[in-house]
Amino acid sequence: MEIGAAARAGQPSAFSARRRIAIRACFSAIAVRDLSAALAAVDDAIALDGALGFETSDTFALRSRIWLALGDYVRAAQDRTRAAALDPHLDDGDRVRTAAQTLWERFQTDAVADQAWWSVPLVDGALRRVLADRRARLLRRRELLARPACELPCPSLCCYFAEDPWVYGVLIDAAKLSDLGGFLAGRRMEASTCLGSVPATECSFLSGEQIGPYVVEEAGQRLVYFPRRDERVRGALPRAARPKSRTFTDLAWDQPHATACRLLGELGCLVHDLGAPPGFTVCRRFLCLAAFVLLVLVDEGVVRREDLAGRPMDDLNEAAIRGLLEWDARIHRNGDLAALEEEMRNALGCAVEADRTQKHREGRAALSAYCRRLKDWNARLGRERAAVRARVVGG
Ligand code: SF4
Ligand code: SF4
Repeated sequence: MEIGAAARAGQPSAFSARRRIAIRACFSAIAVRDLSAALAAVDDAIALDGALGFETSDTFALRSRIWLALGDYVRAAQDRTRAAALDPHLDDGDRVRTAAQTLWERFQTDAVADQAWWSVPLVDGALRRVLADRRARLLRRRELLARPACELPCPSLCCYFAEDPWVYGVLIDAAKLSDLGGFLAGRRMEASTCLGSVPATECSFLSGEQIGPYVVEEAGQRLVYFPRRDERVRGALPRAARPKSRTFTDLAWDQPHATACRLLGELGCLVHDLGAPPGFTVCRRFLCLAAFVLLVLVDEGVVRREDLAGRPMDDLNEAAIRGLLEWDARIHRNGDLAALEEEMRNALGCAVEADRTQKHREGRAALSAYCRRLKDWNARLGRERAAVRARVVGG
């Protein structure tokens, strides 16, 4: 049976697995500079996509790079054009990736206060309060990203899978299984229909340490549990409406034939708040690029939740990319803000040192200098935030 007929005849999971293997083979071949094998592998992946009725910019962009390395500039240009037609942000890829990585790191660090100062026993109450405030803010931000709740008006587009969710690392914490059993029984849902298990050795993509929290021993076997899928097909979406990963790639599990996780209800995940800490670790940690950027921008006070309500996913994806690039240019790469942060850091460091050596007059002067710089920094940041807001909300 030819590929297209077989795919339409209902073997999409097998095709999806073959596609995944083809992409891996392509990168392995590139790593050993076997460009002919890389080309054959990416051709295979493109054929498999085509058989399932879709095209991805990633594969055409990849093949374009291989043609370029082989010196075939005409075919390289053709594939590049095709990839750009499929993804209007193709040429922004590196900028978006770098900006998202910077946002992820900066959001969880404090450029002004050194963590070593947290444990210094301080005499001055005002200095103690300044450091305690900065610390609390930083810890709250880290918590926000450790187990976030996606707040976008999105019909859980990331909860549809081309293959069994464990293939993509969606596993159920072993510690959640007993809560989950009770939850399913309470809703008269069959555990055997909703949950599946595979030998832990199948998840070779996870290290022993990573897989530990998911492993249960049953009848001498080490198993991991995952949520099964049902028959609900999400269907193909326009490219602009599809979620992207935080590294600005397509989600491997997001394909037109993907079907819903059985724990996905009408109003979102049924178990997102189950137990303490809430939900499955893997699911709660996941944020697509738009969800991540907009979560941070809401937390930063750049946009309000009401600004996002009722907006379709293609619009939110676009707003997130615009907001991310604007934030990166105006705030992360802003020399004036960086200089003020450096001055605040120096002033706070002097205040901590003066407190430790009981030079109270110097300590008060340093703390005043910090407060003045903080005021300037806030004023400057406010102006830049307004410009970012205009890009996100104003279009
Ligand atoms: S993380 Fe992204 S894809 Fe998943 S529900 Fe939120 S907005 Fe939708
Ligand atoms: S368990 Fe919930 S969040 Fe995880 S994939 Fe299923 S529906 Fe989505």
